[in-house]
Amino acid sequence: LLLTFAICRLIVTVGLTLDPTDLLRLGGATAAVAVGGVQLSVDQSDLESASMDFGMLTRAEPLAVLHPSSAADVARLVKAAYTSAQAFTVSARGHGHSINGQAQTNNGVVIQMSGSGAGGRKRVGARPGPPRVFEKEMFVDVWGGELWIDVLKSTLEHGLAPKSWTDYLYLSVGGTLSNAGISGQAFNHGPQISNVHELDVVTGKGEIFTCSEEENTELFHGVLGGLGQFGIITRARISLEPAPQRVRWIRVLYSNFSSFTGDQEYLISLHGQPDAQKFDYVEGFVIVDEGLINNWRSSFFSPRNPVKISSINGGNGGVLYCLEITKNYHESTADTIDQEVEALLKKLNFIQTSVFTTDLPYVDFLDRVHKAELKLRSKGLWDVPHPWLNLFVPKSRIADFDKGVFKGNLGNKTSGPILIYPMNKNKWDQRSSVVTPDEDVFYLVALLRSALDIGEDIHSLEYLSNQNRQILRFCDDAGIKVKHYLPHYTTQEEWMDHFGDKWGQFHQRKMEFDPRHIMATGQRIFKVSS
Ligand code: FAD
Repeated sequence: LLLTFAICRLIVTVGLTLDPTDLLRLGGATAAVAVGGVQLSVDQSDLESASMDFGMLTRAEPLAVLHPSSAADVARLVKAAYTSAQAFTVSARGHGHSINGQAQTNNGVVIQMSGSGAGGRKRVGARPGPPRVFEKEMFVDVWGGELWIDVLKSTLEHGLAPKSWTDYLYLSVGGTLSNAGISGQAFNHGPQISNVHELDVVTGKGEIFTCSEEENTELFHGVLGGLGQFGIITRARISLEPAPQRVRWIRVLYSNFSSFTGDQEYLISLHGQPDAQKFDYVEGFVIVDEGLINNWRSSFFSPRNPVKISSINGGNGGVLYCLEITKNYHESTADTIDQEVEALLKKLNFIQTSVFTTDLPYVDFLDRVHKAELKLRSKGLWDVPHPWLNLFVPKSRIADFDKGVFKGNLGNKTSGPILIYPMNKNKWDQRSSVVTPDEDVFYLVALLRSALDIGEDIHSLEYLSNQNRQILRFCDDAGIKVKHYLPHYTTQEEWMDHFGDKWGQFHQRKMEFDPRHIMATGQRIFKVSS
């Protein structure tokens, strides 16, 4: 079967009872065969794009690519893979924005879930339906490959929007729900996986199930944060809220780390007080680079509004921390927003001369990173290797992390932004597959670096990868029990360690929902069983 796929670099149609002999009968070079109605592309450009991801660190070319037009297409292909005498792998690929080949496979089929709509690559042929908004019930049903930017556009037409976001919206719903989906709203609403009512999932046996808190609960909780291991999300029902119209977006600076984290922790503690005034988004980042504050994630500190670190901290070259907060509002309440923000800022301990404020439409705030993407693309700085490191660090050790990493082995060139913000563990459903540190509050620390070949060692892939290893070694040596977000390991022992107490359950779910281990093998957790 695999050999046949490799030979047929054309269009092949595969049936329910995909059997090597069926395909061999095709003669290897025919354009299409009507066996069951699932059309696989072996077009070189499809294979090429499924071979790569945002990380640009690994490459694996699949044997074929499926552009499904429905959940039934997905189910037919998976069933064929599952029932075939020699199992082949199937990897859902959303927008391919993984770092380490998580959506790749080199001995099977990539199911290209995203690929049409405003945000996706255009393609011919039928596509799954657009998002369907249920205004009264305040939720939206979306195809698993839908990009969040398109979900936002659809829901805004009804004056509604999802509650929990990622910083960047050109990611697929299935892709972020397979991890968690976090941003500055997570302290209040939880990650995206805490804002899902229901899913349709094609399991590794090729069966389609609807699952939720009430129905097929094991599958529901397993798939959320499940790294694509138990099934392919074909539909997600996502919770909505009335969409704000505008955002007051504020950045303030700190030179003292404990004041910075103290304020962040205070702000996220307000989530438990429904009537309290609070910010809607709490993030932050670390500034160790010398010179202009330079954050590719937005043009907030623009050339019109330049900030010299030296002018803030007296030129001592130390590390600065930037708290980033927003308050959403409706135009009808615009007259009170100034007072509300002022009252909240009064309780914080930032450097008083360092308040930077802007005001913009809600959609522009949510889509802020895309602007930076376009800028980087125009300079050829987007399609470069990305040795990212994303860690969840327990609150009790974040000061040690600061000393050892931000003020320690990081140096003064970081090759990209470093995000740091806390979240409340009680907003994370422990029944999901995702693992977080064992404390009520933990931080995301995200080193979002780009490796550049510009002659200086400190920007090279090797240098940055080494630095990542040093950071992990430091955490190990110092006994800081970090958990990786968007994890990447190469051995099952490392995965067992990552999941800790949850490994038994994770393994059991795998045996139940994907017994031949054919799904999302790019995660390198399980080996295909013949
Ligand atoms: P892919 O890379 O295509 O797939 C990722 C994994 O999910 C693969 O294992 C794949 O098999 C599986 N998968 C894909 N679709 C499905 C499906 N329908 N059903 C089941 N499994 C599926 N993450 C955050 O949480 N917050 C952020 O703010 C954030 N910002 C980012 C900014 C950028 C510029 C980038 C590149 C990434 C960012 N991420 C962020 C990480 C991102 O959420 C993950 O990498 C996510 O997996 C990317 O989605 P994707 O659609 O590209 O997934």
